[in-house]
Formats: sequence, structure tokens, C-alpha cells
Amino acid sequence: MSEARRIHEIRQSKATMEGAGVKLKRAFGEDNPKLDPFLLLDDFGSDNPDDYIAGFPFHPHRGIETITYVLEGEVQHKDSLGNEGIINSGDVQWMTAGSGIIHEEMPKKSEGFLRGFQLWANLPASNKMMAPRYRDVKKEDIPEVEINGSKVKIICGELNGTKGPVQDIVTDPEYLDITLNPKSEFIHSIKKGHNAFAYVIQGEGYFDEEKELSLGKENLIIYENGDKVKISTDKKEVRFLLVSGKPINEPVAWYGPIVMNTKDEIRVAFKEYREGNFIKYK
Ligand code: FE
Repeated sequence: MSEARRIHEIRQSKATMEGAGVKLKRAFGEDNPKLDPFLLLDDFGSDNPDDYIAGFPFHPHRGIETITYVLEGEVQHKDSLGNEGIINSGDVQWMTAGSGIIHEEMPKKSEGFLRGFQLWANLPASNKMMAPRYRDVKKEDIPEVEINGSKVKIICGELNGTKGPVQDIVTDPEYLDITLNPKSEFIHSIKKGHNAFAYVIQGEGYFDEEKELSLGKENLIIYENGDKVKISTDKKEVRFLLVSGKPINEPVAWYGPIVMNTKDEIRVAFKEYREGNFIKYK
């Protein structure tokens, strides 16, 4: 029997400061087994360049994937191997840090307005030291499917036979950007056993069958297990991210931008970074 997921927990993203002084809102970041394999979700949004222009100067990553989705604005990306590019409005960069990259992420003062997200997904022990990999996805390569009053941009995953451009990711994730018209309902299968959350970008909606609580901007909805989600609207439309993935169920040792399984692996990573042999693949 098909079972709609209930809401496990609702949170509101919290203002924090990261990088060289970027004001952002963090939806989650601390250890939460209900969100495994996801580690962190940051929401960038400001019409004041002073809030973001300091950016994220050169820093290392190991053991994770960082997924940057820019809704509006421009983020310049550069790494220590000479890779360079701009993540523009509507683009996604799915970066698998694996054994290690050293990069910088610098928002540009385009029209002044910046809105976007960075999600961190953990890697299992067997993939933590894999070769780094970038998938730069342009806005026009992200398919949009329309069904029953909803518009769904598929970054990763599948809907009605349409597949998103990001494939072959170890944690089998799904990453959708969904806009639901007023008086509409969106029912979507999510593999049983995968962890799932929704994050509201704007508008208001109901994120479970009970429809007791209307949730809005900057609310994070963490789901219980089940095999589908049921999201609906009343008088307003709602835009939200819907993300799910296969839990890794391994110990997490996390320090700043590096996430491994043991404290010893963290020590090794920082020692290598200090000594200049952090990068394993050139
Ligand atoms: Fe980074």
C-alpha cells in the first residue's frame, strides 16, 4: 500500500555568517540522521551586495559534494587546478570534491540581487577519496515538466519519464525545483528508505495530507519515511525545493569544509592542506 510521508520536523532557516563575511540563512547544518546523506543547506538571498560580495575565498573540500543552484545573480568559481567559470541565474554546479579540491566561490555584483542555494551531500567511505568531478549545468539544460498546475524543474531525478541532467551520483539523489499554482496538488513518489526534505522559496503551501499547517518562505520540512509526498496549495502559489537521497549510515567526522568518517582522517586532511599535498588528482 502506498504511504504518504508525514512531517517529522519543521524548521525555519537561521541567519548566519560564512566565508569572508557572507550573510546567509542556514536551513540545516548540524548532524541530523533524518537528513543523511545531506549535511547542510544554505540559502543566499540579498539585494544588498555588501551582504555577499566578500564571497568565499580559496578553501579546501574533501569527502563531500557541494551543489550550488543560483536562482538570480552570478557566482564566479575558480579552483586551484585552473578550472574557472560563472554560475549564472538558473544554472547549477554539482561539484564532487572527492579526495580534494581547493576553490573559491565569489558572488558578483550583477543587478545587485543574489538568490541561490548551496546543498552539501555526503559521500560514503568508499567514494570519499574519488577523483574530483564537476558537472556544470546551464539553465537551458534543466528540463521543466508541467503537470496538473505544477511546474517542475528537474535538476536531478526523474518525473514522468523526463530525467534531469545530473546522473550517476552515488547517493541516488533527487533535486527538484517546484512551483505549484493556487488550488493545486502535487503528489510525487520518493523511494522508500530515502530521506527527504522540502524547503520553501516563496509563497505558501501544505506539505502533508493533514493540511493543518500552511508553511511559507524559509521553512524547512523534514519528512518521515514513506513512498510519496503530497503537497498542496490553497489561495497562494508556492515554490519550493524537494530533495531526497539514499542515507549513507556511516559515522560522520566533520570539520569546516571537510567531512570524513573519523577524526584521524580530518587531521590527515588538514595536515596535507598545510603541507601542500592535499590535491591528489591534477
Ligand atoms: Fe566551497
